[in-house]
Amino acid sequence: MASDTSKLTAFPAFVRTTGRKVAVFGNGAEAVAKTRLIANSDADIIVYADDPSHELLALMHELAVIHDAASFAPEQVDGAALVFAATGDAALDCAIVLAARARNIPANAVDQPDYCDFYTPALVNRAPVAIAIGTEGAGPVLAQMIRSKVDTLLSPALGPLARLAASYRDRVDDALPRGAVRRAFWKAFFTGEVSHEVEAGNEEAARRATDKLIEDGAGISGHVALVGAGPGAEDLLTLRAHRVLMEADVILHDALVPEKVISMGRRDAERMAVGKRKGCHSKSQNDINILLVKLAKEGKRVVRLKSGDPLVFGRAAEELDALRRAGVSYEIVPGVTSAIAAAADMALPITLRGVAHSVVFTTGHDLTGKTLPDWAKLALSGATIAVYMGRTVAASVARRLNEAGLGMATTVAVVENASRANRRMFHGALADLPLIETADELDGPVLVIIGDAVAAADLSRSEPLSVAFRATTEIAA
Ligand code: SAH
Repeated sequence: MASDTSKLTAFPAFVRTTGRKVAVFGNGAEAVAKTRLIANSDADIIVYADDPSHELLALMHELAVIHDAASFAPEQVDGAALVFAATGDAALDCAIVLAARARNIPANAVDQPDYCDFYTPALVNRAPVAIAIGTEGAGPVLAQMIRSKVDTLLSPALGPLARLAASYRDRVDDALPRGAVRRAFWKAFFTGEVSHEVEAGNEEAARRATDKLIEDGAGISGHVALVGAGPGAEDLLTLRAHRVLMEADVILHDALVPEKVISMGRRDAERMAVGKRKGCHSKSQNDINILLVKLAKEGKRVVRLKSGDPLVFGRAAEELDALRRAGVSYEIVPGVTSAIAAAADMALPITLRGVAHSVVFTTGHDLTGKTLPDWAKLALSGATIAVYMGRTVAASVARRLNEAGLGMATTVAVVENASRANRRMFHGALADLPLIETADELDGPVLVIIGDAVAAADLSRSEPLSVAFRATTEIAA
């Protein structure tokens, strides 16, 4: 089998040493080096040295480690967590390793890779933080070079800072909600005032700064993004919308946003459907406003995901007003609005040189009142009219526009489920538009486009309204 060079042949792990024996065998420089290395931990070190050098004697004295002057006997490794064979005598080192292996104790023989069950790393010690660098024996010099680089990168105060963090962990878990607030707290803890105080050696001041940071809830309040999900196709989501979704703690979405788009959000983000399809309001607009503010005040990053563009018939103004009044920060991520998606599906130029110089985004409900809206005049001068939420009021839309002077022969396009795999497209004249009002099979969102520019669309993609819906009306008539 070909060896995979991307794989380590030894896996780094940290061995527990508290209350455990680590045995070092040897009299000279190698034994000194291993003893020093192990002394970074709290292991009960025992050095077996029958003829220790002056240097080793001094070190054993300095570290107050146990010295055993007996010559090697296999039982000496009994009960050790780790064994180091550093006698300088290859055969004796092998015998020591075999004695350890016979007792299932991992051992390391200096300069004999075949007799090493583990390698010792170059170590940067900022207890409780440790960085161990291994090269699998390929380059002790390289390891030392990396070690000194890493050493200069890390503040000497990292250890005390990490110990302070450990002492606060339970309190922080109790005081701050999991997720964004807690993450922000630790980030501020390790980079802000607390860390500066620890570095200056002011432990008391560091504790005061930590207490304050907990009280302030890490000084962060949540954030709300009003995000346009686009008309439904996942790949019509903007890159920014995608990024914001990936950072969300909570996603509040409308019923019109397809599951596939919602599931592009961060996997462990909480998801809440806040309804609003015609006829089934699962939450009132006021409830939604209150919920947005509440979630943000808990420090969450909230994505309010709306179909199409959030500022087009999306009740965004009310949500923004609530956020502003509560002092919650917000941003708006635009989306492809359904009128534009519907036009694209039909290859319909919504502005057309010499024909249509303006576009009106309107709702069908605007045409059900008594007075004709101002824009009706624009329709007469050739504007393209995009009607949202127009299906159930299609007949009155057609009638009112006709009353305003728009000819019954004016072209119209109707797109259900724009941009989605199950989209349906129709075309016809203003006179045909009432047909869709009773067409119950149009149960997806429907967008209507009215105006002379529609005639320039690729009508081979759509069915005539009069053919698709005639049967229904005849029965209804
Ligand atoms: N903010 C949305 C509009 C919300 S109002 C946007 O910018 O598109 C809801 C209306 O949008 C529906 O009644 C329908 O008219 C229209 N709509 C939304 N998605 C649509 C789609 N995929 N196809 C056709 N119309 C759609």
